[in-house]
Amino acid sequence: MKNVAVILAAGSGSRTGLSTPKQFLPLGGKTVLEHSVQTFNDHPGIDEVVIVTATEFIERVRAIVKDNRWTKVSAVLAGGKERFDSSLAAVRHFADNPDAVMLFHDAARPLVSERIISDAIKAMERYDAVDVAIPAVDTIVQCNREGTHMESIQDRNLLWRMQTPQGFRQRTIEEAYRIALQDPQFTATDDCGTVLRYLPDVKVGIVRGSERNIKLTYADDLSLLEFLLSSPER
Ligand code: C5P
Repeated sequence: MKNVAVILAAGSGSRTGLSTPKQFLPLGGKTVLEHSVQTFNDHPGIDEVVIVTATEFIERVRAIVKDNRWTKVSAVLAGGKERFDSSLAAVRHFADNPDAVMLFHDAARPLVSERIISDAIKAMERYDAVDVAIPAVDTIVQCNREGTHMESIQDRNLLWRMQTPQGFRQRTIEEAYRIALQDPQFTATDDCGTVLRYLPDVKVGIVRGSERNIKLTYADDLSLLEFLLSSPER
């Protein structure tokens, strides 16, 4: 069985308010992207890594791959406008490997750990789809679209915060997107959501994430990441 990591690095990172996309921002002497790729490249259970990035950054990412001598990175692919377009580029790249386990990871989560990757690979022995997640600590409220008032509060004990990697057998995620793309209303911010919605019979397993596995979203997150990077995991 082949385990491939897909590092999604094609976002513009507009929410940081900075001109450089967040995956190329510096963190502890290298870029955010390099931290993410390194952890997957070093993991003994990962056979191959592909990086998805915006067309204008393909050459830059190829140069980063060369500088780091990452032996498992087999391709740098062009992503798309939405995150799911970028995931789809990787799904199609592995069209001839329906049995492959694909772990999709946000490049913007540079502190993913070896333990999380191992647990995700292990969970894929039991499931065709898994997500790394952590229990919600805050109470989560559903508001109206404008964010001006509350509509309902869910039972916090049933709510989890999704992280990445998200793992799928290639044939499962390909089938989910095949159906999704026929739906004119289709929209997604992550791949598990596509499987949950369009392949309701597929059980999506949960793997424990970590409070350290945060997604760089706002400029201030960089100082938190710097701090976490310098303090070892307990
Ligand atoms: O925008 P968001 O924070 O959800 O992005 C999560 C990850 O998905 C980031 O690493 C980003 O680079 C990637 N992404 C992508 N293609 C897009 C949008 C986001 O690869 N079109």
